[in-house]
Amino acid sequence: MGNGNRETKPASSYTRKLQKEFAQRHSIDIKHASNQELELAGSHSIEESSDAVIYNDKGQEIWNLGDYGFLKEEEVPDTVNPSLWLNAKSNFRAGLFWVVKDKIFQVRGLDLANITFVRTNTGFLVLDTGTFVEAARAALDLAEHGLGEDIRDHIRAVIISHSHADHYGGIRGIIGEEEVGNPEDGKIPIYVPAGFVEESVSESVYAGTAMIRRGRYQFAFGKKPGVRSTVSAGLGLGHNLYRGTSSYLTPTHEIGEDKKLVIDGLEVEFQLTPGTEAPAEMNNYFPQYRAFWAAENCTSTLHNFYPIRGAKVRDSSIWSDFTVEALERYGDRTDVVFQSHHWPHWNTEREPNAVKDYLRNSAAIYKYIHDQTLLLANQGYTQNEIAHKIKIPQKLQEKWYIRPYYGTVEVNAKAVYQRYLGYYSGNPVKLHPLTEEDTARKFVEYVGSEELVLKKAREDLEAGNYQWAAQAAHYVVFANPQNEEARYLCADALEQLGYQAESAIWRNAYLVGAEELRWGGPVDNSKGERGQKSDITSRMTTRLSLGYLGIVIDGEKAETEDLRFRLQITGETGTVDEEFILHLYAGSLLIYSGTSKEELPYLRGPKGIIYSILQKNLAEEKERIETDIYEELLRIQSYVVDLGETAQFPLIEGKGHENIL
Ligand SMILES: [Zn+2]
Repeated sequence: MGNGNRETKPASSYTRKLQKEFAQRHSIDIKHASNQELELAGSHSIEESSDAVIYNDKGQEIWNLGDYGFLKEEEVPDTVNPSLWLNAKSNFRAGLFWVVKDKIFQVRGLDLANITFVRTNTGFLVLDTGTFVEAARAALDLAEHGLGEDIRDHIRAVIISHSHADHYGGIRGIIGEEEVGNPEDGKIPIYVPAGFVEESVSESVYAGTAMIRRGRYQFAFGKKPGVRSTVSAGLGLGHNLYRGTSSYLTPTHEIGEDKKLVIDGLEVEFQLTPGTEAPAEMNNYFPQYRAFWAAENCTSTLHNFYPIRGAKVRDSSIWSDFTVEALERYGDRTDVVFQSHHWPHWNTEREPNAVKDYLRNSAAIYKYIHDQTLLLANQGYTQNEIAHKIKIPQKLQEKWYIRPYYGTVEVNAKAVYQRYLGYYSGNPVKLHPLTEEDTARKFVEYVGSEELVLKKAREDLEAGNYQWAAQAAHYVVFANPQNEEARYLCADALEQLGYQAESAIWRNAYLVGAEELRWGGPVDNSKGERGQKSDITSRMTTRLSLGYLGIVIDGEKAETEDLRFRLQITGETGTVDEEFILHLYAGSLLIYSGTSKEELPYLRGPKGIIYSILQKNLAEEKERIETDIYEELLRIQSYVVDLGETAQFPLIEGKGHENIL
């Protein structure tokens, strides 16, 4: 038995066999892989840019499609699931494309998400602005070049489809803050779905630090792509996303109900779809162009009810219902469906109902997973059992655009269970189990020794039982993170699981896990996120900032505090705009909106003061505030935990926290 090593390994004979069987089952020609999605992704091209490189203001390279040059190969490598290979190749088709000739254009492949330009009477409407400013600028340049038109000075409105950062983060690359406003004043309105502001903040700030760390596993941030590495993020290409500058501009119009607007002569119908792919989301329909924008509700993948980076679980039932509503409302009047990721689907002579099929099959798979999970749960199956048992009907399995490149059936079924029944299976043995590290130590102790566990785990690895080999070895890693053999063995098992995975994000997670086991982790830290976080945290409403302040206060340190005070937020003229009563009590920050007649100490100042406390620089703000509890405020500030620019905590090994046993 060797001690293993840090090298990435080739596909094992088991993995090769599974890939071959997969290809046969799905009629993929391994030598010349192609499918309908790959054809669609490359069709209707105006200008290709598969070798695009994007730099930031400092001249650093932040996006280089050359990194993905290996995807030009037609032959499926044995280290990549054949279906995922096709998805990755499709995502690699970058450039400017038309959706409706001369009317609707998309830039794809310069960002995880698409940027879409829709022609109005005298200019353009922009649908979503991508993740980062540099890519948005590049997209605008490409569109202007490809169309031979000045778009930049003719933007009539921006519509942001939903509250995820890959759809608004690039906005400053499209328009400047000073241009935003009411169209009556000659300015550019920004339309967003109701709830956008709260949701964009609560999703990317409240749990943001943990999500960024976990996001590295989902997106393989910083990992050089390759046939033994990341090949795609499922939704698009995304390994370098974090390097760009992400931005935020306060929207001018929240769409609160389904309605029709005329924007610079173009009719636009809004269909709100709250609680679907994002808590705040909406679709649009363009009757003059017979085109339906499905936001991110339908894309060319089975989506996530729960992304493994962590998020609130989404409601797959409502998601399906709104998609059915769209089908009913727009299906007969639509020739093309396009969205914020991936490529459009058009009705054609060969497939006159392609659009309706696309919407129906998307709605059906979401509903199927929802319903069958609950049926199985009601028959006593646990989350994990359901994930192993649920089987998608053949008819839906054959549709490439709902294959599990991003979301998976297994995780989605667990998400449905969690939404209705929570994490707990009902078995009290699992009500409050030992910590991961204690469990691991006891496991090793029961088996006899680390060597004995690893001996058995190696047999399983060599027999192709990768999941169990990884599970067993991970007990040793958690019991003793210094055990290199355990780390290498676990890594080798995860790597084969990664090679086999059809889901891009499962592949990323397995391969990043393997890398962090081999080299220690996190190997790369996802810097650039900070720009976006501060752009957005500094623009949070006071209520949301206070909510965040409560989250970062170390409750144990503040345990004995009992401080109640009035917070008055002043506007530019010094008037009190907002008033709160705050009560730091038993480690929690209780927040009461509004006024009270109580005699209370007070803190009065501009909106930025909460942000200053969060940044631990209240002292610098001393001139701008009035208060009779300055010393107490400094004490509160001292309880603020600095979560750092990015989280560095380990995921693939124990944290060495205090254990019980
Ligand atoms: Zn997105």
